[in-house]
Amino acid sequence: METRPQLDITLCAPRGFCAGVDRAIQIVELALEKYGAPVYVRHAIVHNKYVVDGLRAKGAVFVEELDEIPDTDAPVVFSAHGVPKSVPARAQARNMFFLDATCPLVSKVHVEAQRHFSEGHHIVLIGHKGHPEVVGTMGQLPPGAISLVETVADAEAFVPADPTQLAFVTQTTLSVDDTSEIVAVLRRRFPQISGPHKEDICYATTNRQEAVKRVAPHVDAMIVVGSSNSSNSLRLVEVAERAGCARAMLVDRAAEIDWARLDGIRTLGISAGASAPEALVDEVVEAFAQRYVITVTASGAQRESIVFNLPRELRTPPAA
Ligand code: SF4
Repeated sequence: METRPQLDITLCAPRGFCAGVDRAIQIVELALEKYGAPVYVRHAIVHNKYVVDGLRAKGAVFVEELDEIPDTDAPVVFSAHGVPKSVPARAQARNMFFLDATCPLVSKVHVEAQRHFSEGHHIVLIGHKGHPEVVGTMGQLPPGAISLVETVADAEAFVPADPTQLAFVTQTTLSVDDTSEIVAVLRRRFPQISGPHKEDICYATTNRQEAVKRVAPHVDAMIVVGSSNSSNSLRLVEVAERAGCARAMLVDRAAEIDWARLDGIRTLGISAGASAPEALVDEVVEAFAQRYVITVTASGAQRESIVFNLPRELRTPPAA
């Protein structure tokens, strides 16, 4: 007789890999194929342990700074989060062969910041201190050109040298709701501030948050597949909690599921951060199938058709 309880699982869509993550991983894989191991990668190419471990097994060598890399002809890849300008400058000075896997949507923010700076603006960057994307964006301009604002309280307390010469840009993986509150404070206090129409949060972050918001109020628990250093994955857990799901948790792998916290659930939502592979979602669903009689339905069908070009060096030449 069947003793497992029934569980209805709703898979949020879209979830998982975005175009920037897909491109960054492809850059490392293609570099390994074309040039052989080792391929050095500055910082985790994307914030997912499973992805990083998989690439390491294929011959990628991860470092935090270029100084850890010996003099070599091997390629050096910069992660999807972007790098300060000093990094390619240092790589050039050392005659390194580097491939830039910065997501084009992060590069777009770098270009915006540079444009505002050249127009004489002081820049407010909305983001999380210490995140590599924030370090990379701040490093596009000279020290002091950018002020970091993390919260509504920071935005209220910010005192610019000239309130009429301000612009703002944002990290791409923030909470849409938190950021719009911060932007509202800046616009109220500094009506002349320049900036994007809303913010610079990317399509992938926005779509995954919207999908979680739709599902979270209707389920007993929510699992977000992703690593604890993944900003957009952490935001999905917060979004689920704020949408009314008290039992929202982030798990890297099925082995991390806190089964005690899920006691008595009958419905479950699952999403995955932009750096989490679908294989890990499958693994989590399979773990539930071991303990429950599951039904699986998809919520939302928002297709994402964005694809970014690979660096020229890795594009396949047209067939002769
Ligand atoms: Fe690019 Fe957004 Fe993906 Fe980050 S989450 S890599 S900004 S598409």
